[in-house]
Amino acid sequence: MSFDQIFRNARIAGRETELVDIGISKGRFAAIEVKLDADGPSEDLGGRLALSGLCETHIHLDKSCLLGRCKCEKGTLDEAIAAVAVAKKGFTVEDVHARASRTIEKAILQGTQRMRTHVEVDPRIGLTSLEALLDVKRKYAWAIDLRLCVFPQEGLLDDPGCEEVMVAALEKGADVVGGAPYMDKDSHGQIARIFALAQRFDVDIDFHLDFGLDASHLDLLEVCRQADATGWEGRVAIGHVTKLSAVPESRLMELGARLAGAGVALTVLPSTDLFLIGRDVDHNVPRGVTPAHKLMHAGVTTSLSTNNVLNPFTPFGDCSTIRIANLYANIAQVGSPSGMAACLDMVSASSAKLMNLRDYGIAVGNSADLVVLDCESRAQAVAELAQPMFAVKAGRRTVTRPAPMLHGPA
Ligand SMILES: [Zn+2]
Repeated sequence: MSFDQIFRNARIAGRETELVDIGISKGRFAAIEVKLDADGPSEDLGGRLALSGLCETHIHLDKSCLLGRCKCEKGTLDEAIAAVAVAKKGFTVEDVHARASRTIEKAILQGTQRMRTHVEVDPRIGLTSLEALLDVKRKYAWAIDLRLCVFPQEGLLDDPGCEEVMVAALEKGADVVGGAPYMDKDSHGQIARIFALAQRFDVDIDFHLDFGLDASHLDLLEVCRQADATGWEGRVAIGHVTKLSAVPESRLMELGARLAGAGVALTVLPSTDLFLIGRDVDHNVPRGVTPAHKLMHAGVTTSLSTNNVLNPFTPFGDCSTIRIANLYANIAQVGSPSGMAACLDMVSASSAKLMNLRDYGIAVGNSADLVVLDCESRAQAVAELAQPMFAVKAGRRTVTRPAPMLHGPA
């Protein structure tokens, strides 16, 4: 037997105790066996961890890299939305394309191979950002699968003409429809419109939802009700949901059971949540990071993601999902090996499930997409911020990152 490429002595995420050889043929995984008896160009991974690419479920490429253009003092969500609304007036297709390309290249270099980006559409920006990102999607398809989720960041019902732009965006090829119900006076009304659009275009849904710390009103209950009513189970994700960081554990578990039952998945965005939440207090600042790992135990599909990069919502960002998993583990006080492994799952396998990716995983028949990390386990990757060493997409090398070297004493 002969293969185009063989990676020997790999530890595959999720079954890290055994060393296996991975054979690739015609861009697909063709064999995964202990001591694979086959010919072909071979590379010894020395027991390092291989996984089927890191995943970013929630990022905003169109408004990344805006720091020099926005003036912010309070650091609140409202201020960030207003500052970006002003900056958006200057967006052109070329400008969005250039900033999104810079950000997506960073993500690719960090081992990310699947990404869902939100894209703002409204009567003022129109389809400018969408057009730029459709081209970015084509341009980088050799390295990353990019999906576009259009959403009305400045409101839908209270912004006349916005729904028409959303429809035009979905007709033009947006993959997912999103919402931000807290931007409209009638949040349930927006949720209903987004479900109607999802049904009309047969697309998944991804809401920005329940931001803040007042858990007396939770839009997630209406999202679950609509998911049940429309049969959209398994096709709905909600992001932030920081209000769940402010409920006692018994209530959290009740709500987790509701989310799991309705097939509504959850993304936590620790960097943004930490930066924006609790701006009204000057000490004992609440963390506002919802305990995704506890909800995972309740059966909810959960992910961690970057959200914003170098803009007023989050003035940080290296596009490393492993750094986000580590940040989350710190904040959520996750320290056990199994807990840290789950944190890596929330930027890889569990994220792929949230995005309904059908071809994810190192398994015979799947597209030969893999990233090799300089570590031996998922827990070690999170604990030590293990670096990606190289990435392969459809059997072709897409990224190489040489390991740092000590040169020793003279
Ligand atoms: Zn977001």
